[in-house]
Amino acid sequence: MGKRGAGQETAGGGLITDVFADIRAGVRSVCAEFDGAYWRDKDKQDAYPTEFVAALTEAGYLAALIPERYGGSGLPLAAGCAILEEIQAAGCNGAACHAQMYIMGALLRHGDDAQKQAYLPEIARGALRLQAFAVTEPGSGTDTGAIRTTAIRDGDRYRINGQKVWTSRAEHSDLMLLLARTAPREAGAKKADGLSVFLIDMREALGAGLSVRPLEAMINHSTTELFFDDLSIPASALIGEEGKGFRYILTGMNAERILIASECVGDARWFIDKAAEYAKERVVFDRPIGQNQGVQFPIAKAYARMRAAALMTADAAARFDAGERAGAEANMAKLLAAEASWEAADMCLQTHGGFGFAREYDVERRFRETRLYQTAPISTNLILSYLAEHVLGLPKSY
Ligand SMILES: Cc1cc2nc3c(=O)[nH]c(=O)nc-3n(C[C@H](O)[C@H](O)[C@H](O)COP(=O)(O)OP(=O)(O)OC[C@H]3O[C@@H](n4cnc5c(N)ncnc54)[C@H](O)[C@@H]3O)c2cc1C
Repeated sequence: MGKRGAGQETAGGGLITDVFADIRAGVRSVCAEFDGAYWRDKDKQDAYPTEFVAALTEAGYLAALIPERYGGSGLPLAAGCAILEEIQAAGCNGAACHAQMYIMGALLRHGDDAQKQAYLPEIARGALRLQAFAVTEPGSGTDTGAIRTTAIRDGDRYRINGQKVWTSRAEHSDLMLLLARTAPREAGAKKADGLSVFLIDMREALGAGLSVRPLEAMINHSTTELFFDDLSIPASALIGEEGKGFRYILTGMNAERILIASECVGDARWFIDKAAEYAKERVVFDRPIGQNQGVQFPIAKAYARMRAAALMTADAAARFDAGERAGAEANMAKLLAAEASWEAADMCLQTHGGFGFAREYDVERRFRETRLYQTAPISTNLILSYLAEHVLGLPKSY
């Protein structure tokens, strides 16, 4: 996998300046094998894109952020951003496997040597999949401190009971990062105290206290509900110290937001290119529809918004890679990029008129897919309240 290059032209004509041009070109060549028909079929069948994930794994892209000493490429988060952005810009769906990039960070930063040695090389060579991240519960929603799944120490094991919802890719993962309560909420000084993170081997857990139920959704996202009924796991599955899990996943959440922002920038690029091409070709009233300012201005506006979001995302990634505090920038990148992709999606659908609704154009599917990022992994309101409270010093609203 190449590392460095200069910059590249988007099909829409703009220059995305970037030092990862070789990586972008490599990702595009993998994605070229997976066209709209492939994704439409997966969407229709509600099926996991196994072949696509295997191709990315084989090319080394899902191990980009794993340090070289564990068999990965040891690249910075900014490289992960380039990979995911390019996947989306090529019309593919990185949501099938993006989680491996950010879940791995919890293991890398807070796992002990034995855990890292046991799992990271296997993940890097594609023998183990770490795609599932179980935080959200039906009763807690955005209020992570209110989760009720418990992990109770029992000798050299923990017993897990509870329920998770929206645990995506659980059926396509060997390992799962789980957030559970190891001490009652009342016992901690803060509500997020008493939460711990576990790396669960799902191959052992399935049918032995863990059951997985697929959750039908608006998009093909392989998402599930999990039920823990006295699942017994070894104490060695605990990552870091007991009770510090919330802090551990917070650092990972900044990486997650920055990576998802990159996906949104990629989505926006795809919608803009698709709309611009269609607007040049579709002739109505004896002129290309793109000759009408009412059609071209929304495309131009979406382009400007996408470029601004890309800058914010690059800034957030650079800060993260430099080890600086990046909470505000990660949140702003996610907010602005998710808005840019949604605006571009709406514009693209409108530009296509009735054909935007026809499955064969891929616009309606990608419109549904990019809508997710207004809500997950964190909703727009919660980002705004983070900025209001932590950046602007306004009173906490909840
Ligand atoms: C397709 C999909 C895949 C997902 N994958 C995963 C996954 O792999 N792992 C995982 O753990 N979770 C996953 N999630 C869950 C996702 O992170 C949550 O849906 C999201 O965090 C919002 O939680 P909620 O759905 O419970 O909404 P709620 O918390 O119930 O919120 C509902 C609405 O109220 C608003 N709201 C709530 N509180 C406030 C407040 N104080 N101020 C202002 N507005 C507020 C929210 O912004 C939201 O719009 C996924 C969700 C989806 C849809």
